[in-house]
Amino acid sequence: MALPKISVAIAGGGIGGLSLAAGLQNCPHLDVQVYEGTKIYKDVGGGLAIHPNGIRAMELVGENVKRAFFDSAELSAKDEDVELTTDVVVGQGKNTHEMLASLGAAKGRKTVARADLLNGLAKIVQKDRLHFGKRLARIEEKQNGKVALHFEDGSQASVDCLIGADGIHSKTRSYLLGENHPATASKDQGWILFRRLVPMEEARKSLDEKLLTKVPIYCGLGSAINCMPVHGGRTYQITVTAVKAAAWNETDDNENLVVREDFYKDWIPEVQAIVELLNKDPGEPWVIADHDRAPYYHRGNVVMIGDAAHSITPFAGNGASQAFEDASTMLTLLKEVKSVWQIPKAFEAFDAIRRPRSQKVVELSRMFGRLYAFMEEGVGDDLDKIRKKMREAAAIMNDADLQEQNKEAVRYFTWLLSAEG
Ligand SMILES: Cc1cc2nc3c(=O)[nH]c(=O)nc-3n(C[C@H](O)[C@H](O)[C@H](O)COP(=O)(O)OP(=O)(O)OC[C@H]3O[C@@H](n4cnc5c(N)ncnc54)[C@H](O)[C@@H]3O)c2cc1C
Repeated sequence: MALPKISVAIAGGGIGGLSLAAGLQNCPHLDVQVYEGTKIYKDVGGGLAIHPNGIRAMELVGENVKRAFFDSAELSAKDEDVELTTDVVVGQGKNTHEMLASLGAAKGRKTVARADLLNGLAKIVQKDRLHFGKRLARIEEKQNGKVALHFEDGSQASVDCLIGADGIHSKTRSYLLGENHPATASKDQGWILFRRLVPMEEARKSLDEKLLTKVPIYCGLGSAINCMPVHGGRTYQITVTAVKAAAWNETDDNENLVVREDFYKDWIPEVQAIVELLNKDPGEPWVIADHDRAPYYHRGNVVMIGDAAHSITPFAGNGASQAFEDASTMLTLLKEVKSVWQIPKAFEAFDAIRRPRSQKVVELSRMFGRLYAFMEEGVGDDLDKIRKKMREAAAIMNDADLQEQNKEAVRYFTWLLSAEG
């Protein structure tokens, strides 16, 4: 007689949740269901640049995940041989136009609009496994070992385990750590972010054509500006991040707020043109936040992955890649699980292997913000020191051996099982 399948609920059909589901649905011993709070994906947070570690992690989850990414990505999207790098350029101060770094050079590196990527990933998850409009409201662990999920619409599900992939304001995180834990809520990092999606035709009128196919980051005291083509080159995304006090008047309310153009008056002309274009329709600014270190990512049969576990500021452009790495390691571990009682051990192994690395990337991303804004202590606008720090940090993020990471997770899982007796 065939053993009953282990039921796995994923709360949150974002980048981490969908890619994990795409892998888990092929495991005959598992029954995976994804519960996504929204009814339709929107371009919240805009375009993403995916770094080499993210692309390698996708490959480890499955060729279909990588294909979904390439099919929704930008520029020569179908051509994996085209390289796209983020050129970090000095936009203000004594070394203007100097190249600081060329980040993330990798075959197949692309930018992608968030909603395009999510829709692409959703297509490869079997339809009957993906439930939209199911926002997790409450989690309850039952004495019989089951996890009860209560959704905002009043419906419920009972499963063997829950993987919370529900983003920065995760219900799973506040359940696991407790609502009052200092690391539960996201933490304001003292920056604001303005973003505008400019129709390419309009961008062409103000900006040099050469700029429109690139992904530059301009650095200067107190601010960093990033641009990228999205939506198959039909839209040009402008993102201006600035240290709060520098870029706006603290007494302003959020309505009708624009980036202070006078703040950029000593920046290079192309940055001034970008800021001017942004200010034609700057939208609501965002506060840039991330998570302080969670002391653990799992308890019993409940675990968190992706931004729920380790939300990362956008400066290093590696949050989505970390979510792909989580999916890859979790998939590898759950393939090994033979019975429900082994699930907490698999989650413990996930925690042991993925928590140190993902939390390191949170710290590195904060540092990237300070480096871009010439605010890293002992570094300032010293370009050689900035380059060295960036090189070291990029190597940690991009050059990790992800196959070895997964093997290490399985070794640890096996050891935990043997220690159990
Ligand atoms: C402005 C900005 C720029 C960024 N740029 C980059 C970049 O260039 N490169 C990069 O790698 N990363 C970037 N990131 C980070 C990246 O977006 C995240 O790290 C990544 O989206 C994390 O994926 P995730 O699946 O964990 O979470 P999310 O993508 O946030 O997905 C969480 C999902 O859970 C759903 N959800 C939330 N609550 C519930 C609930 N209670 N019940 C059910 N569903 C729920 C949400 O609707 C969402 O679909 C950027 C982030 C920001 C804010």
